[in-house]
Amino acid sequence: MDEDQQTQESTTNNKFVQKKPATPGRSIDIYAAQCEKCFKWRKIDTQEDYEEIRSRVQEDPFVCEKNDGMSCRDAGDLDYDSTRTWVIDKPGLPRTPRGFKRALVLRKDYSKMDAYYISPTGKKMRTQQ
Ligand SMILES: [Zn+2]
Repeated sequence: MDEDQQTQESTTNNKFVQKKPATPGRSIDIYAAQCEKCFKWRKIDTQEDYEEIRSRVQEDPFVCEKNDGMSCRDAGDLDYDSTRTWVIDKPGLPRTPRGFKRALVLRKDYSKMDAYYISPTGKKMRTQQ
């Protein structure tokens, strides 16, 4: 399997992505959300903020103004392009429980991400997705 191979998933209904480099190590490095008004992508600083936004997106859609000092007139932080692998999260996915860490691992064939939760004691749990 060629590790440089890239997959791009794009589904218009989903607004959340986690961006990652193709190599090395299949882990997340950028969190982003799409404004529902102007459709620009905004970088989300932390996994915690990202999960907060994601968990409430159905009642409280993400817009540029939610990022400090941003508005829809500002250029987008990121372009949805093929230089990175974009992984779409399901809107409304609940927040990771306190003390737990959510980890995503991209399958070797880049077909999908598998989500794991790491418990406070370090135990790894698979989710049913
Ligand atoms: Zn906007």
